[in-house]
Amino acid sequence: MVRKLGEKALDPYENAVMQLKKAVNVLGLDDEAFEALKTHERVIQVKIPVRMDDGKTRIFIGWRAQHNSALGPYKGGVRYHPETDMSEVMALSMWMTWKCSLLQLPFGGGKGGVRVDPRRLSFREIEALSRGYFAAISRFVGEDLDIPAPDVYTNPQTMAWYIDEYYRIIGHNIFGVVTGKPQQLGGLGTRIVATGFGVAAIAREAANKMLGGIEGKRVAVQGFGNVGSYAAYYLSNWGAKVVAVSDSSGGIYDPKGLRIDEVMRVKSEKGKVIEYPDAKRISNEELLTLDVDILIPAALENVITIDNAPKIKAKLIVEGANGPTTPEADDILFKRGIFVVPDILANAGGVTASWIEWVNNRTGGWITDDEAMRKLEEKMITAFRTLYSYMNRRSDIDPRTAAQAVAVERVYNAMKLRGWI
Ligand code: GLU
Repeated sequence: MVRKLGEKALDPYENAVMQLKKAVNVLGLDDEAFEALKTHERVIQVKIPVRMDDGKTRIFIGWRAQHNSALGPYKGGVRYHPETDMSEVMALSMWMTWKCSLLQLPFGGGKGGVRVDPRRLSFREIEALSRGYFAAISRFVGEDLDIPAPDVYTNPQTMAWYIDEYYRIIGHNIFGVVTGKPQQLGGLGTRIVATGFGVAAIAREAANKMLGGIEGKRVAVQGFGNVGSYAAYYLSNWGAKVVAVSDSSGGIYDPKGLRIDEVMRVKSEKGKVIEYPDAKRISNEELLTLDVDILIPAALENVITIDNAPKIKAKLIVEGANGPTTPEADDILFKRGIFVVPDILANAGGVTASWIEWVNNRTGGWITDDEAMRKLEEKMITAFRTLYSYMNRRSDIDPRTAAQAVAVERVYNAMKLRGWI
């Protein structure tokens, strides 16, 4: 998505392949296995004509990338973003394969995207676009085939249009074809907080192990959407001091700690965190190198690069976003002794809640919100402990490569059992 001077590869797909190569080397797998693990099973590009409010028809382009289904149906969100492209969607779907595997969910990896700036569309235009996109990919999704969910700039309302469009096309209600739905349409009450809650739970667990606890630790969160806002909310409830947050219009900093419920109110009423009074304005770039204990990048890809990695002061980075750290930056951070909890673990709360929702849909709506939250926390903590004990045995490899090695090995074994390799 973002290319910067001075770095070899900032294309998300190239990054994802470089990361996979490292994991394959750790596992001692050969080139044949690397090729089989790397290659997508299917990538679909669709054309979405939308009748706009002014009466003109505009053409949008969307994708659905299906990376690997050895462990189960493809699973992953759909993002609406003006800079999304096929390479990004392919990278994100590969990361979903590793994420679902690491969390031991019965899913493979998929991801979708539409190249659009939804902030410039009316509500009706977004509905038409969403229905058009889902109709275009409808033959390639299904509750046992590919299960989309929300991602950047998509939400439960988008999912409601998706399942309704599916209902129109196939003629009966299948709630399990999409997750992250509104509660009235088979969603979980807790799905909306799940990713942010998971990020916070992992940050707390990592802080307990590495920083002597979460209480009083200074936290900076880049991105104040669904993931960043709830991560900040839970961490401040658990006694951490969230000193800085930001969104696409800029950031705010108060070394004494921000009142997160107030920031949330300001963000929902005025749309920007910088409207919060009594805090110093900072840029998104400044936020990354603040003097804090924990840094949570929860916006987009490629924000931690070789340019700023040497200046980062946090001791712990918990990746709320997908792909926020480039491979070169990863090497620098590892050498500097900064622990990066990788995206495929840190932000897996969303897809884990999606799995609970999908199971619940298929059993007729059984689970309570409390049970769903407990199950989510248990899954996240178990995955963190698996990674942490692996790291204790292999201190020569960075946490991302360790997490990917655990995940890739499971996918590889499933492919072998199926006779794909
Ligand atoms: N978009 C989220 C992710 O990147 C959630 C995907 C899902 O729930 O399927 O993990």
